[in-house]
Amino acid sequence: MPVLVMKFGGTSVATLDRIKRAAKRVGVEVAKGYDVIVIVSAMSGETNKLVGFVGETSPLYDAREYDAVVSSGENVTAGLMALTLQEMDVPARSWQGWQVPVKTTSAHSSARIEEIPTDNIMAKFGEGMKVAVVAGFQGVSPEGRITTLGRGGSDTTAVAFAAAFGAERCDIYTDVDGVYTTDPRVTDKARKLDKIAFEEMLELASLGAKVLQTRSVELAMRYKVRLRVLSSFEEQSDEAGTLVCAEEEIMESNVVAGVAFSRDEAKMTLISVADRPGIAAAIFSPLAEAGVNVDMIVQNISEEGRTDMTFSCPVDQVARAEQAMEAAKAAGDINFHDLVADTNVAKVSIVGIGMRSHAGVAAKMFETLRDEGVNIKVITTSEIKVSVLIDRKYMELAVQSLHDAFGLETAA
Ligand code: ADP
Ligand code: ASP
Ligand code: MG
Repeated sequence: MPVLVMKFGGTSVATLDRIKRAAKRVGVEVAKGYDVIVIVSAMSGETNKLVGFVGETSPLYDAREYDAVVSSGENVTAGLMALTLQEMDVPARSWQGWQVPVKTTSAHSSARIEEIPTDNIMAKFGEGMKVAVVAGFQGVSPEGRITTLGRGGSDTTAVAFAAAFGAERCDIYTDVDGVYTTDPRVTDKARKLDKIAFEEMLELASLGAKVLQTRSVELAMRYKVRLRVLSSFEEQSDEAGTLVCAEEEIMESNVVAGVAFSRDEAKMTLISVADRPGIAAAIFSPLAEAGVNVDMIVQNISEEGRTDMTFSCPVDQVARAEQAMEAAKAAGDINFHDLVADTNVAKVSIVGIGMRSHAGVAAKMFETLRDEGVNIKVITTSEIKVSVLIDRKYMELAVQSLHDAFGLETAA
């Protein structure tokens, strides 16, 4: 039997009624002759609640116990989904990550999947089971402890299962009916894309579009998984939603495919560090060791052998970054006059493979922001994206005006 992977996100399993609705969708695919692997998230809000419990109990928590607590939301929905399917006379069984087992690295709270043996679940399909319901977001480390894959990680579980089982498709059911030119919550002019290239989706996801976890897109690209994003709230045809696919499958596209943003950024500046060989290593190695995800970096003009170094990181890592820099200063590895943190910034990015062959895209972005009176604090570019750091209060305005300026409301 061909295998289909269907993933239901938090809002799609938020209540028993919604679980029923999702189970009915699964039933439709079973009736078509598929063996289905269903990946479920925790009920919406549940993971946030669990993360909150951990932080309240232990501010500098042990990451192994964080994973033990935070992974539990998915266990509930996996069991409930299996029960709902059984009530519909669909033979179904649930699996927690460790039972499969989904083997991961030991990087607790951001583990990577290394292997998914298929024999266990395939044997059950052989015995007539029709649906394997697997708790998303979780796995087991080589030490035998429960791990989680980072927020939004059920998407990655789904794609990894699709790759491991050679599934015909991986359908990601969520609360929007596909991938849009930007988050439809920020502008009602956002347009649903029928197709988007892996490379573009990868950039959009890593630049803040949380509709898919970045790692899930990476895996889909590497293992050529047919990945589709669609709504669990509407009746869906086989062509519904957005197909994430190879560039070659897309006939026409805009130069810019989409606008992404990330609200919770911080800009940190080390004032007056020595401008000498090795200074960047002396700053960024301790930050990496402290687990700070440094994103943009700018080294300012040097004057009399001293310079300012600016970098951005997620706002919730500012304290950790400050600690690492003060420790490096105390150890005599770096010397700076001051460390200034601006925690009111956001990153806005435009993404499109068309940028490879079109000049002037960055200039148009800067002109658009100028016309809106938005000051740019840091800029980074790559072959298919331009990102700027701006004051957070202008984020929505910037997204909307860039969406207009690049004509994203209308198809190419
Ligand atoms: P789930 O719980 O199903 O995993 P998420 O909340 O993780 O759902 O992701 C879906 C959300 O992603 C949407 O509700 C939407 O607000 C947001 N989003 C951000 N950027 C985009 C985009 N470009 N296209 C579609 N949705 C987007
Ligand atoms: N429940 C987890 C989270 O909220 C994983 C997921 O939903 O993908 O991050
Ligand atoms: Mg998600």
